Amino acid sequence: MYEGLINKYSKYLPVEDKSKIVTLNEGNTLFLKLKNLPKAIGLTNANVYVKFEGLNPTGSFKDRGMTMAVTKANEAGSKAVICASTGNTSASAAAYAAVAGMKAYVLIPDKKIALGKLAQAIIYGAEVIAIDGNFDDALNMVVELSKTQPVTLVNSINPWRLQGQKTGAFEICDALGRAPDYLMLPVGNAGNISAYWMGFKEYYANKEVTNLPKMTGFQAEGAAPIVENRVFPNPETIATAIRIGNPASWKLATAARDESNGTIDKVSDEEILEAQKLLAAEDGIFAEPASCASIAGLIKKVKEGKLEKDRQIDIACILTGNGLKDTSVVVNDNMEIQKFKPDLNELSKLFK
Ligand SMILES: *Cc1c(COP(=O)(O)O)cnc(C)c1O
Repeated sequence: MYEGLINKYSKYLPVEDKSKIVTLNEGNTLFLKLKNLPKAIGLTNANVYVKFEGLNPTGSFKDRGMTMAVTKANEAGSKAVICASTGNTSASAAAYAAVAGMKAYVLIPDKKIALGKLAQAIIYGAEVIAIDGNFDDALNMVVELSKTQPVTLVNSINPWRLQGQKTGAFEICDALGRAPDYLMLPVGNAGNISAYWMGFKEYYANKEVTNLPKMTGFQAEGAAPIVENRVFPNPETIATAIRIGNPASWKLATAARDESNGTIDKVSDEEILEAQKLLAAEDGIFAEPASCASIAGLIKKVKEGKLEKDRQIDIACILTGNGLKDTSVVVNDNMEIQKFKPDLNELSKLFK
């Protein structure tokens, strides 16, 4: 039986006491080759794979890091965890704290998190505190609180988070038998791009693969500090999970970009929503807006002619979270639902 990513990748994830592992059997997520979308965007010489991280136990990749961070907090005898969150970190921290019998404190930006994510933090029993400020403000608060109060910080500046998250790279390499040519993913606080790069490099160093991908990150236009090389004091985007103006892992992310010969680019909210719809309508996968920055980015690269055309390439896109967490963006956008009386004659007209 699969028992979570710490057990699976124990060679790469040091844990002292196996009995203290805090897991919900996260990881081992769906990795799927897209059948229709590549053709729809005019891409003929690439296999496009998606890793659907929305199928983790709390619906986002954050569970990969949280199993490690909460396991280590548990090992150290900590009784509580704390985080700032745009939503998914708080959902994940709350769930793992629950299973470990620990308390979770989560600070969220007031009214700027998707309702599904807020519901998760509440139902898993976290202490939820809304801050009249943005994510970056909340992160500054929890960093200070964790220095003076008996709580362990589980934001991605906790090094164990990135250790757990690097397993996404292992799973992709295990599935393909090699690293993809491109790894495309959204960039918010920039922990995940850093973690994936660490994972690919470790697999390469251990000769599990003989190639490395170009790390290709995408920020939202209204929250693009790395792309524009400046802090965004008031980040704005519909993709709330990447609504971050001053990423904690900024330096690690630019190192991943530069060492891998990759790029970090930006996409507009409009492009993100179009990509979200295209992915669902073409290939049956519903990912949350931030996730779809990776697909929007892929479309942008194709339009700009930035990908190799002379050979077959493998592209892996990380779909970081589940679309069901944030349905308001969809329902508000497409309210053209047809209304009919429950009358068979009327309804039959639909099929003409
Ligand atoms: C956290 C999150 C991101 C951003 O990841 P970073 O590691 O902060 O760059 C992107 N998408 C979703 C769904 C997330 O929850």
